[in-house]
Amino acid sequence: MESATQPEATTATATDGLSAADSEPQTFAVHRPVDGSVIETVAIAAPADVAEAVAGVRAAQPAWDAIGFAGRRRWLESLRDWILANQDRIDELMQQETGKVRADAGLEAFYCIDAINFWCDQGPKFLADEVITPHSALLRSKRHKVIFRPYGVVGIISPWNFPVILSLGDALPALMAGNAVVIKPSELTPLTLMEIVRGWREDVGAPDVLALVNGMGETGGALVDEVDYLQFTGSERTGKVVMKRAADTLTPVSLELGGKDPLIVTRDADLERAANATAFGGLLNTGQICISIERVYVEEPVYDEFIAKLKGKVEELRQGTDDVPYTAEVGAMTSPAQVEIVSDQVEDARAAGARILTGGKRKEGPGDWYEPTLIADADHSMKVMREETFGPVIPVMKVRDIEEAVALANDSPYGLGSSVFAGDAEEGERIARRIEAGHCNVNDVLVNYNVLGLPMGGWKNSGIGVRHGAQGIRRFCHTEALTIPRTPQAKSEPIWFPYTPRKRGFIRRLYTFINARGLRKRLGR
Ligand code: NAD
Repeated sequence: MESATQPEATTATATDGLSAADSEPQTFAVHRPVDGSVIETVAIAAPADVAEAVAGVRAAQPAWDAIGFAGRRRWLESLRDWILANQDRIDELMQQETGKVRADAGLEAFYCIDAINFWCDQGPKFLADEVITPHSALLRSKRHKVIFRPYGVVGIISPWNFPVILSLGDALPALMAGNAVVIKPSELTPLTLMEIVRGWREDVGAPDVLALVNGMGETGGALVDEVDYLQFTGSERTGKVVMKRAADTLTPVSLELGGKDPLIVTRDADLERAANATAFGGLLNTGQICISIERVYVEEPVYDEFIAKLKGKVEELRQGTDDVPYTAEVGAMTSPAQVEIVSDQVEDARAAGARILTGGKRKEGPGDWYEPTLIADADHSMKVMREETFGPVIPVMKVRDIEEAVALANDSPYGLGSSVFAGDAEEGERIARRIEAGHCNVNDVLVNYNVLGLPMGGWKNSGIGVRHGAQGIRRFCHTEALTIPRTPQAKSEPIWFPYTPRKRGFIRRLYTFINARGLRKRLGR
């Protein structure tokens, strides 16, 4: 059994006398995080392969655009039915490459089937022609519209924590808008998506408008160079590299990056619900969600009681690998490198005087495991309150009052999401309106992600652009402004050449009359 490490490129053995580098593609191994064993070795797409993949879907895109929403809907609904028919197999493969527990693995198919229905129903409405009534009466002799036209080929670069939601999930609106799509999944977790793309092509028999290229940074960079729009989900560091590269071709990007989401508990909150929600929001998917609860601020009068409740909830969780029936809540971590980051942050907090109430260490044995961890008495001098953790760790800090909680919640370079638990919804909303983040769930966690009509994106270093909602599909389109005459046209217009004192004088008087306020001023007196 090989040990689990970040995939390293290796060159397959040459058999024809040429050097290996000349004859065989480079490959990388995909591991099972639960024990580090290798599942499969995957070929890396060189830049020329990426160009070929993009050219292939580009050739099919005009016909895809031409079949219209109804035609595209039929293919996407066939994909939905294929996912439903193959869900167990998809969930199993997902578990193998991510180390998720079965319930978490199943979320990916749930999201996709729901999202296909959402984009099929709402996409045509979001992209319907927008009729514009001109602000000036002078321009009302024409019809004015905004129309939305697909970019062509959309590239998607995705991370390992939700390998299908964060790749296919973005491909769905791009496809519905009439684009072709090429995805570069994370090198840690490409297998489930490879199977879905195979299903689209071979089992569903859908048009050649969805392709996948495998590899690391070089492959991702080549994709940025080739496509007409690039959707990136991943770390802030790589997001900046991608944006700089996209500047060379002026390719528009949207970036969904890291987070450090705060959760505030007021003295009047329902502490039982708040503790359940914090455990779920902090530890779902082993804490590896961009919108995981990563820091908790609790008002002093209820701090001890909240901590005691939360400790009980976290201690009850079962960590392991399971199947149907569902027997575990917390799985392995998907990335070995992330285990190091989590471990470093917990040790930094421990050294700075925080109390580790449960967990706080790796699990013995092979694989990438870190115990569900609750940290009390954290503060902003600690990495675990300032840097993205992306693991099964919940740090909690005591605050004097709401003012301090809001100030600390906003004291972050990130602004992805947030939650507030308050005594009543109105107080919760008042606090939510002061948080600097792309979303705030009042008396709830993570729920906004399932409301596909709501825009989902980050402020500050958490990203640029949004997925979901009208903007979530319009971002994959050029806008084109149309002006169309209502009536037969004269041979010339008063503002066209030639300029004469008579015409210019008339136009000046007309503009003054329309735009000045008060009769005397309108008449130029
Ligand atoms: P990452 O930045 O390391 O990698 C993301 C993707 O970028 C991978 O496919 C990777 O191969 C590719 N890549 C790496 N170097 C590249 C380069 N030079 N050019 C082009 N592509 C390149 O991120 P990760 O470790 O896979 O994912 C974890 C991060 O993703 C966390 O920071 C998390 O918060 C973030 N994330 C954000 C969201 C969101 O919606 N905002 C969702 C999930 C994860």
